[in-house]
Amino acid sequence: MIAGILKEPAGENRVSLLPEQAEALIKQKVQVVVEEGAGKAAFAADGAYTVKGCGIMSRKELLQQADMIFSLSLLSKEDTDLLKPGTIVLGIFLPLYHFNIIAGWAQKGITTFSMDMIPRTTRAQSMDVLSSQANIAGYKAVVLAAHLYPKYFPMLMTAAGSIAPAKMLILGAGVAGLQAIATSRRLGAVVEVFDTRPAVKEEVMSLGAKFIEVEGAADSSKAGGYAVDQTEEYKQKQQQKISEAAAKADIIITTAQIPGKAAPVLLTEASLNVMKPGSIIIDLAAATGGNTARTVNNEAVVYNGVTIVGNSNLASSMPADASKLYGRNLLNFLKLIIDKEANINLNFEDDIVKGTCITHDGNIVNERVKALVA
Ligand code: NAD
Repeated sequence: MIAGILKEPAGENRVSLLPEQAEALIKQKVQVVVEEGAGKAAFAADGAYTVKGCGIMSRKELLQQADMIFSLSLLSKEDTDLLKPGTIVLGIFLPLYHFNIIAGWAQKGITTFSMDMIPRTTRAQSMDVLSSQANIAGYKAVVLAAHLYPKYFPMLMTAAGSIAPAKMLILGAGVAGLQAIATSRRLGAVVEVFDTRPAVKEEVMSLGAKFIEVEGAADSSKAGGYAVDQTEEYKQKQQQKISEAAAKADIIITTAQIPGKAAPVLLTEASLNVMKPGSIIIDLAAATGGNTARTVNNEAVVYNGVTIVGNSNLASSMPADASKLYGRNLLNFLKLIIDKEANINLNFEDDIVKGTCITHDGNIVNERVKALVA
């Protein structure tokens, strides 16, 4: 079986497997080929792959020959036209948003595994790419904010006078939000946090942050741990609390997402208008519309003296560690679909294989994606 590692498009610095991870596959009798320059942006040169036993190929050759393809990003139509029917493609394809593209892949007979659809279960933790990458994004959001913020984070008592600590507000306490809290606390900021899931209150408090309570959130206990849409009454109460907290904040990190839907706008223009000039917002939900009324994806805009950075791909700015963790997630998942003789063995009785598979045998097999296309 030939497995191929593709070079990502410009702006994506990660690579699906680093050389030592490709070597782990080779030890399992898989033949690994790498597109020229695939690892360069993650500091893995072609030579580092060849010494581990990988072949180097052009993109076209690789797409035509590989039985299994690793690409973090969606493939273009030109790319998929070159694939053999039955080729397995693995990456982070966000099929709940890109369902029309994925429907085309089904028609071409491609078998698609989208790693962002791995069930959030205990057994799948070692394969959970959303967690490994969100952890990086949460950390980097704080470091980026500290770089942009024109003042200190920690409280300082010096002979020349004292400095008050930065006030941080974090909206959404999932994986990224919790890492952002921990990182902000390490830098000495005072942190307030808001999330619609009351279950996260204890985790937030254990990290030394204050949880902002809003009564009456919709029950999300049956949504696999994810957030659900809220009632208008709740949204209004929430809006007021967030606006009050935003007025006091120096830095806001927003991470609130609802899978398959546009991100909720938590900072309206009215809330942005009461913020202090010089304050910073890092919006990690920018790619799905953003958590502020003024977010522009992949841009930093200044509104009313507030800098709003829209970036949902901060993991790409730490490509060596991000690729290392993604690659480990991928290798752990591959153990479920490649047997000891390097043959592909798809067991759809396994909930992780079933949940992650989006297209197979000419059909969309994931129920949520199928419902969107219908
Ligand atoms: P996410 O990226 O989908 O969303 C980020 C956070 O935003 C969530 O905490 C969500 O509740 C919050 N949010 C959504 N709408 C909001 C709103 N209107 N106002 C404020 N906050 C809002 O979340 P995630 O980090 O992917 O985590 C999703 C779930 O998966 C969590 O319950 C998490 O604990 C769980 N999880 C489980 C495992 C596991 O068991 N293997 C691993 C990781 C995460």
